[in-house]
Amino acid sequence: MRHVLVLGGTLEASALAQALADRGERAVLSYAGRVARPRAQPVPVRVGGFGGAAGLARHLRDHAVTHLVDATHPFAARMSANAVAACAETGVPLLALTRPAWRPDAGDDWTTVPDMDAAVAALDGPPRHVLLALGRMHLAEFAARPRHHYVLRLIDPPEAPPPLPRHTVVVARGPFDVAGDTALLRAHRIDLVVCKNAGGSGADAKLRAARDLGLPVLMVARPPLPARREVARVADALRWLDDTPPHAPAPRGAERGV
Ligand code: NAP
Repeated sequence: MRHVLVLGGTLEASALAQALADRGERAVLSYAGRVARPRAQPVPVRVGGFGGAAGLARHLRDHAVTHLVDATHPFAARMSANAVAACAETGVPLLALTRPAWRPDAGDDWTTVPDMDAAVAALDGPPRHVLLALGRMHLAEFAARPRHHYVLRLIDPPEAPPPLPRHTVVVARGPFDVAGDTALLRAHRIDLVVCKNAGGSGADAKLRAARDLGLPVLMVARPPLPARREVARVADALRWLDDTPPHAPAPRGAERGV
Protein backbone atom coordinates (compact mmCIF):
# COMPACT_ATOMS: atom_id res chain seq x y z
CA MET A 1 0.00 0.00 0.00
CA ARG A 2 1.09 3.55 -0.66
CA HIS A 3 2.20 5.73 2.25
CA VAL A 4 2.37 9.34 1.16
CA LEU A 5 4.19 12.03 3.12
CA VAL A 6 3.12 15.57 2.18
CA LEU A 7 5.36 18.47 3.21
CA GLY A 8 2.88 21.20 3.92
CA GLY A 9 2.23 24.67 5.17
CA THR A 10 0.34 25.82 2.06
CA LEU A 11 -3.20 25.83 0.69
CA GLU A 12 -2.04 23.38 -2.00
CA ALA A 13 -0.86 20.92 0.66
CA SER A 14 -4.22 21.16 2.43
CA ALA A 15 -6.06 20.61 -0.87
CA LEU A 16 -3.90 17.56 -1.62
CA ALA A 17 -4.47 16.21 1.91
CA GLN A 18 -8.22 16.51 1.34
CA ALA A 19 -7.99 14.73 -2.02
CA LEU A 20 -5.90 11.93 -0.51
CA ALA A 21 -8.36 11.55 2.37
CA ASP A 22 -11.26 11.41 -0.12
CA ARG A 23 -9.50 8.55 -1.91
CA GLY A 24 -8.82 6.69 1.35
CA GLU A 25 -5.04 6.90 0.84
CA ARG A 26 -2.62 6.44 3.72
CA ALA A 27 -1.12 9.91 4.03
CA VAL A 28 0.52 12.16 6.62
CA LEU A 29 0.81 15.94 6.39
CA SER A 30 3.95 17.50 7.84
CA TYR A 31 4.11 21.02 9.26
CA ALA A 32 7.21 22.92 10.31
CA GLY A 33 5.31 24.21 13.33
CA ARG A 34 5.60 27.93 12.55
CA VAL A 35 1.87 28.71 12.86
CA ALA A 36 0.20 28.57 16.27
CA ARG A 37 -3.19 27.27 15.06
CA PRO A 38 -2.80 25.35 11.79
CA ARG A 39 -5.96 24.44 9.88
CA ALA A 40 -7.72 21.20 10.91
CA GLN A 41 -6.77 18.48 8.43
CA PRO A 42 -8.51 15.32 7.18
CA VAL A 43 -5.30 13.23 7.43
CA PRO A 44 -2.90 12.64 10.36
CA VAL A 45 -0.51 15.54 10.97
CA ARG A 46 3.05 15.57 12.28
CA VAL A 47 4.73 18.78 13.39
CA GLY A 48 8.37 19.92 13.54
CA GLY A 49 11.62 19.67 11.58
CA PHE A 50 13.11 16.30 10.67
CA GLY A 51 16.70 17.27 11.41
CA GLY A 52 18.03 18.18 7.97
CA ALA A 53 18.21 15.96 4.90
CA ALA A 54 19.65 13.07 6.94
CA GLY A 55 16.78 13.34 9.43
CA LEU A 56 14.22 13.34 6.64
CA ALA A 57 15.88 10.28 5.05
CA ARG A 58 15.69 8.55 8.44
CA HIS A 59 12.01 9.49 8.74
CA LEU A 60 11.27 8.09 5.27
CA ARG A 61 12.92 4.82 6.25
CA ASP A 62 11.44 4.57 9.75
CA HIS A 63 7.90 5.19 8.49
CA ALA A 64 8.20 3.22 5.22
CA VAL A 65 7.13 6.25 3.20
CA THR A 66 6.57 5.26 -0.45
CA HIS A 67 6.00 8.72 -2.04
CA LEU A 68 7.06 12.20 -0.94
CA VAL A 69 5.15 15.26 -2.16
CA ASP A 70 6.83 18.56 -1.41
CA ALA A 71 3.96 21.04 -1.24
CA THR A 72 5.86 23.61 0.80
CA HIS A 73 5.85 27.32 -0.01
CA PRO A 74 8.14 28.28 -2.92
CA PHE A 75 10.28 30.24 -0.44
CA ALA A 76 10.82 27.21 1.84
CA ALA A 77 14.09 26.55 0.00
CA ARG A 78 15.88 24.63 2.73
CA MET A 79 13.08 22.11 3.20
CA SER A 80 12.77 21.63 -0.57
CA ALA A 81 16.53 21.09 -0.97
CA ASN A 82 16.42 18.58 1.90
CA ALA A 83 13.58 16.72 0.19
CA VAL A 84 15.61 16.40 -3.02
CA ALA A 85 18.65 15.14 -1.08
CA ALA A 86 16.71 12.68 1.12
CA CYS A 87 14.85 11.20 -1.86
CA ALA A 88 18.11 10.86 -3.81
CA GLU A 89 19.58 8.97 -0.86
CA THR A 90 16.61 6.68 -0.16
CA GLY A 91 15.16 6.24 -3.65
CA VAL A 92 11.72 7.45 -2.50
CA PRO A 93 10.01 9.12 -5.48
CA LEU A 94 9.60 12.89 -5.07
CA LEU A 95 7.11 15.29 -6.60
CA ALA A 96 6.84 19.04 -5.96
CA LEU A 97 3.32 20.48 -5.94
CA THR A 98 4.03 24.16 -6.42
CA ARG A 99 2.29 27.22 -7.84
CA PRO A 100 3.59 28.99 -10.92
CA ALA A 101 5.26 32.31 -10.13
CA TRP A 102 3.26 35.53 -10.62
CA ARG A 103 4.07 37.59 -13.71
CA PRO A 104 3.37 41.30 -14.09
CA ASP A 105 0.34 42.25 -16.20
CA ALA A 106 -0.28 45.41 -18.18
CA GLY A 107 -0.78 48.19 -15.65
CA ASP A 108 1.49 46.61 -13.01
CA ASP A 109 4.40 48.68 -11.68
CA TRP A 110 6.76 46.05 -10.27
CA THR A 111 10.42 46.19 -9.37
CA THR A 112 11.79 42.67 -8.94
CA VAL A 113 14.73 42.07 -6.60
CA PRO A 114 16.59 38.77 -6.19
CA ASP A 115 16.32 38.38 -2.42
CA MET A 116 15.37 39.96 0.89
CA ASP A 117 18.68 41.83 1.28
CA ALA A 118 18.07 43.51 -2.07
CA ALA A 119 14.52 44.42 -0.98
CA VAL A 120 15.88 46.12 2.14
CA ALA A 121 18.55 47.90 0.08
CA ALA A 122 15.87 49.17 -2.33
CA LEU A 123 14.06 50.98 0.51
CA ASP A 124 16.75 53.67 0.69
CA GLY A 125 14.48 56.55 -0.39
CA PRO A 126 12.34 58.99 1.63
CA PRO A 127 9.81 57.76 4.22
CA ARG A 128 6.89 55.79 2.83
CA HIS A 129 3.88 53.80 4.02
CA VAL A 130 4.87 50.25 3.17
CA LEU A 131 2.73 47.11 3.24
CA LEU A 132 5.22 44.42 4.24
CA ALA A 133 3.42 41.23 3.20
CA LEU A 134 6.30 38.86 3.93
CA GLY A 135 5.34 36.94 7.06
CA ARG A 136 7.06 37.37 10.38
CA MET A 137 10.35 35.66 9.49
CA HIS A 138 11.86 38.63 7.67
CA LEU A 139 10.72 41.61 9.74
CA ALA A 140 14.04 42.07 11.55
CA GLU A 141 15.86 42.67 8.27
CA PHE A 142 13.79 45.83 7.67
CA ALA A 143 15.01 47.35 10.96
CA ALA A 144 17.89 48.61 8.80
CA ARG A 145 15.31 50.94 7.16
CA PRO A 146 13.58 52.46 10.21
CA ARG A 147 12.28 55.63 8.57
CA HIS A 148 9.30 53.99 6.88
CA HIS A 149 5.94 53.22 8.43
CA TYR A 150 5.35 49.51 7.95
CA VAL A 151 2.00 47.75 7.91
CA LEU A 152 2.67 44.11 8.80
CA ARG A 153 0.11 41.52 7.80
CA LEU A 154 0.70 38.42 9.94
CA ILE A 155 -1.15 35.14 10.52
CA ASP A 156 -0.57 35.19 14.29
CA PRO A 157 -0.11 38.17 16.63
CA PRO A 158 3.67 38.66 17.09
CA GLU A 159 5.09 37.16 20.29
CA ALA A 160 7.52 40.07 20.70
CA PRO A 161 7.10 43.63 19.39
CA PRO A 162 8.44 43.80 15.81
CA PRO A 163 11.82 45.61 15.72
CA LEU A 164 10.46 48.43 13.55
CA PRO A 165 9.97 51.83 15.22
CA ARG A 166 6.92 52.75 13.11
CA HIS A 167 4.57 49.90 12.38
CA THR A 168 0.97 48.68 12.49
CA VAL A 169 0.18 44.97 12.83
CA VAL A 170 -2.80 43.53 10.96
CA VAL A 171 -3.54 39.93 11.99
CA ALA A 172 -5.29 38.08 9.17
CA ARG A 173 -5.16 34.70 7.45
CA GLY A 174 -5.70 34.36 3.68
CA PRO A 175 -7.10 33.77 1.20
CA PHE A 176 -7.70 37.52 0.71
CA ASP A 177 -9.91 39.33 -1.80
CA VAL A 178 -9.36 42.43 -3.90
CA ALA A 179 -12.04 44.51 -2.19
CA GLY A 180 -10.58 43.77 1.24
CA ASP A 181 -7.01 44.42 0.15
CA THR A 182 -7.98 47.65 -1.64
CA ALA A 183 -9.62 48.83 1.58
CA LEU A 184 -6.49 47.85 3.54
CA LEU A 185 -4.16 49.76 1.19
CA ARG A 186 -6.42 52.83 1.32
CA ALA A 187 -6.99 52.76 5.08
CA HIS A 188 -3.25 52.72 5.78
CA ARG A 189 -2.35 55.17 2.96
CA ILE A 190 0.06 52.56 1.56
CA ASP A 191 2.34 53.83 -1.20
CA LEU A 192 4.49 50.69 -1.68
CA VAL A 193 3.71 46.97 -1.42
CA VAL A 194 6.63 44.65 -0.62
CA CYS A 195 6.00 40.94 -1.13
CA LYS A 196 7.49 37.61 -2.19
CA ASN A 197 6.65 36.04 -5.52
CA ALA A 198 4.61 33.32 -3.85
CA GLY A 199 2.35 32.67 -6.84
CA GLY A 200 -1.10 31.13 -6.58
CA SER A 201 -4.46 32.72 -6.03
CA GLY A 202 -4.62 32.87 -2.22
CA ALA A 203 -2.43 35.97 -1.93
CA ASP A 204 -2.58 37.75 -5.28
CA ALA A 205 -5.42 40.10 -4.24
CA LYS A 206 -2.90 42.63 -2.93
CA LEU A 207 -1.27 42.75 -6.38
CA ARG A 208 -4.56 43.35 -8.14
CA ALA A 209 -5.48 45.98 -5.52
CA ALA A 210 -2.07 47.67 -6.02
CA ARG A 211 -2.63 47.68 -9.80
CA ASP A 212 -6.11 49.19 -9.40
CA LEU A 213 -4.73 51.93 -7.14
CA GLY A 214 -1.65 52.54 -9.32
CA LEU A 215 0.75 51.57 -6.51
CA PRO A 216 4.26 50.22 -7.06
CA VAL A 217 5.23 46.72 -5.89
CA LEU A 218 8.67 45.61 -4.76
CA MET A 219 8.65 41.90 -5.64
CA VAL A 220 11.18 39.49 -4.11
CA ALA A 221 12.00 36.73 -6.63
CA ARG A 222 11.90 33.05 -5.66
CA PRO A 223 15.02 31.41 -4.30
CA PRO A 224 16.74 28.95 -6.65
CA LEU A 225 15.94 25.26 -6.03
CA PRO A 226 17.54 22.01 -7.20
CA ALA A 227 15.95 20.36 -10.25
CA ARG A 228 12.93 18.16 -9.45
CA ARG A 229 9.68 17.03 -11.02
CA GLU A 230 7.01 19.71 -10.50
CA VAL A 231 3.26 19.98 -11.02
CA ALA A 232 0.93 22.88 -10.24
CA ARG A 233 -2.41 21.08 -9.77
CA VAL A 234 -3.65 18.58 -7.22
CA ALA A 235 -5.14 16.43 -10.02
CA ASP A 236 -1.68 16.12 -11.58
CA ALA A 237 -0.18 15.12 -8.24
CA LEU A 238 -2.81 12.36 -7.90
CA ARG A 239 -2.03 11.17 -11.44
CA TRP A 240 1.69 11.06 -10.56
CA LEU A 241 0.89 8.93 -7.50
CA ASP A 242 -1.08 6.49 -9.62
CA ASP A 243 1.68 6.31 -12.24
CA THR A 244 4.63 6.01 -9.84
CA PRO A 245 5.31 2.60 -8.28
CA PRO A 246 5.76 2.72 -4.49
CA HIS A 247 9.28 2.58 -3.18
CA ALA A 248 9.60 2.12 0.56
CA PRO A 249 13.29 2.39 1.52
CA ALA A 250 14.72 -0.42 3.60
CA PRO A 251 15.26 0.50 7.27
CA ARG A 252 18.89 1.46 8.09
CA GLY A 253 20.97 -1.66 8.48
CA ALA A 254 18.39 -4.01 6.94
CA GLU A 255 20.22 -4.07 3.63
CA ARG A 256 23.34 -5.34 5.47
CA GLY A 257 21.33 -7.89 7.42
CA VAL A 258 22.03 -6.02 10.69
P1 NAP B 1 12.69 26.48 5.23
O1 NAP B 1 13.53 27.65 5.57
O2 NAP B 1 12.87 25.82 3.93
O3 NAP B 1 12.80 25.36 6.33
C1 NAP B 1 13.57 25.48 7.50
C2 NAP B 1 13.43 24.20 8.27
O4 NAP B 1 12.10 24.07 8.79
C3 NAP B 1 13.63 22.96 7.42
O5 NAP B 1 15.00 22.69 7.22
C4 NAP B 1 12.90 21.93 8.25
O6 NAP B 1 13.66 21.61 9.41
C5 NAP B 1 11.70 22.71 8.75
N1 NAP B 1 10.55 22.57 7.88
C6 NAP B 1 10.15 23.40 6.87
N2 NAP B 1 9.01 22.97 6.33
C7 NAP B 1 8.67 21.82 6.99
C8 NAP B 1 7.58 20.92 6.89
N3 NAP B 1 6.57 21.12 6.00
N4 NAP B 1 7.58 19.87 7.73
C9 NAP B 1 8.57 19.67 8.64
N5 NAP B 1 9.61 20.51 8.78
C10 NAP B 1 9.66 21.57 7.97
O7 NAP B 1 11.13 26.87 5.40
P2 NAP B 1 10.43 28.20 5.91
O8 NAP B 1 10.54 29.22 4.85
O9 NAP B 1 10.91 28.47 7.31
O10 NAP B 1 8.92 27.71 5.95
C11 NAP B 1 8.45 26.88 7.00
C12 NAP B 1 7.07 26.36 6.68
O11 NAP B 1 6.18 27.43 6.46
C13 NAP B 1 7.04 25.50 5.42
O12 NAP B 1 6.28 24.36 5.74
C14 NAP B 1 6.36 26.35 4.38
O13 NAP B 1 5.58 25.59 3.50
C15 NAP B 1 5.51 27.28 5.23
N6 NAP B 1 5.39 28.61 4.62
C16 NAP B 1 6.49 29.32 4.33
C17 NAP B 1 6.37 30.57 3.76
C18 NAP B 1 7.59 31.35 3.37
O14 NAP B 1 7.41 32.45 2.81
N7 NAP B 1 8.79 30.88 3.58
C19 NAP B 1 5.10 31.10 3.52
C20 NAP B 1 3.96 30.34 3.84
C21 NAP B 1 4.13 29.09 4.40
P3 NAP B 1 14.63 20.31 9.43
O15 NAP B 1 15.82 20.68 8.61
O16 NAP B 1 14.92 20.13 10.89
O17 NAP B 1 13.86 19.17 8.83
